[in-house]
Amino acid sequence: MTRADTLAEQRAYLEGGLAELRCGRCGARVRAKKSSPQQTSVQWTTAATRECDELAALAADGRPTALVPSCPSLRDSIERAVHEGRLEVA
Ligand SMILES: [Zn+2]
Repeated sequence: MTRADTLAEQRAYLEGGLAELRCGRCGARVRAKKSSPQQTSVQWTTAATRECDELAALAADGRPTALVPSCPSLRDSIERAVHEGRLEVA
């Protein structure tokens, strides 16, 4: 992949409505995108999965965290970001 491709991809990322957010409770940092008021996509990094107590608890239980879209507190943080205009519904 060329450098130009990488830059174009980064721009697409930002323009695609992905915003970096922190979970208000556990501080895990994720990227979130809202494609409609009902639909939110969250990208968890491995570090964030470890930081979030709620996800860590699920993982300890043997539940696959990839199937958990967010912890409940993060959902609130996303709603607040939308409300404050930090995350656009795109
Ligand atoms: Zn959390």
